[in-house]
Amino acid sequence: MPTYNTVQKRWLAVQSRDKAADDQFFYGVTSTGVYCYPSCPSKAALRANTVFFSTRNEATDAGLRACKRCRSDEAPLAVRQAQLVEDACQLIKNAPSSAKVEDIADQLSVSRYHLQKLFQHYLSLSPKAYAKAARAQDLERALNASSTVTEAVYAAGYESASTYYAEGAERLGMSAKRYQSKGDGLHIRYGFGTTRYGKIVVGCTDKGVCCILFGDTQQHMLEDLETRFSKATLVRDTQKLEPVIASVVEQIDTPSLNANLSVDVQGTAFQEQVWQALRQIPTGSTATYSEVATSIGKPKASRAVATACAANPLAVIVPCHRVVRASGELSGYRWGVERKRALLTDEKEENSKPT
Ligand SMILES: [Zn+2]
Repeated sequence: MPTYNTVQKRWLAVQSRDKAADDQFFYGVTSTGVYCYPSCPSKAALRANTVFFSTRNEATDAGLRACKRCRSDEAPLAVRQAQLVEDACQLIKNAPSSAKVEDIADQLSVSRYHLQKLFQHYLSLSPKAYAKAARAQDLERALNASSTVTEAVYAAGYESASTYYAEGAERLGMSAKRYQSKGDGLHIRYGFGTTRYGKIVVGCTDKGVCCILFGDTQQHMLEDLETRFSKATLVRDTQKLEPVIASVVEQIDTPSLNANLSVDVQGTAFQEQVWQALRQIPTGSTATYSEVATSIGKPKASRAVATACAANPLAVIVPCHRVVRASGELSGYRWGVERKRALLTDEKEENSKPT
């Protein structure tokens, strides 16, 4: 994964209109007062007039306005294209079987050729094949084991098109993608511990903690572990893991602690981005599914965000318990809504304590 952490690398990315750099940084042109995505097709500015920003907010704070060409105030091109594919899928599903690809493309104001190209890119599937699979109710197979178009689109889109997730992934301590591999080739040591919210099982690879799961009995926790990592070698080693488990327990019992836990989790690109976003929700506060979706540049993906929350392998450390319904209702929690309530209440209480 390329990174864009120096001015030279950023300038190179701008000169080559590197799509993978979109949303890794923005550049502003002082002579025109506009800020752009690195891949903006506009004529390149002079180096002397170019400034770089890590975030969109920095660019607007500096008084620059969005570019109309690359629409730098909207999600990156790859995200907008993915959304177009999603919309097309919705239309195809609701269309009569006699509908042609042209009709769908017309409704979305794009050419048939363009739509076909995007389908191939994001779903590895033609619109026709998608329609056929939808009618046969065989979408899961057609979408390569993804249960929704959103998941398939974002997984495929970002694996191939951009490093949109790279920064978040690095911060989470994640290595190369072992996408849907069920831990194939992994050697996982695990042990049990007890927190004030119940018993946990902690699993570790040699790189870090790969799962923290609540459960009522050791048997249940072990079954959960075996389901998630059905292709990994699992070895119980409570004694050796004692210091790690102690630190996990401490972190769960005292959320404000923010211990530096090395973790090693794998998910789809989309899941990893959601998990990273969850870690930005401060202790003691909550966010809605759609707020999380918006924060990662995919405002329509709130249902997929909920799915990614449910797949979270690191209870409490990746705080999926801080995500609630728009109505303020707690909604479901993978490990029981009572546990979610207790976690949120305690965090709020701890926050209101004078320091
Ligand atoms: Zn631009």
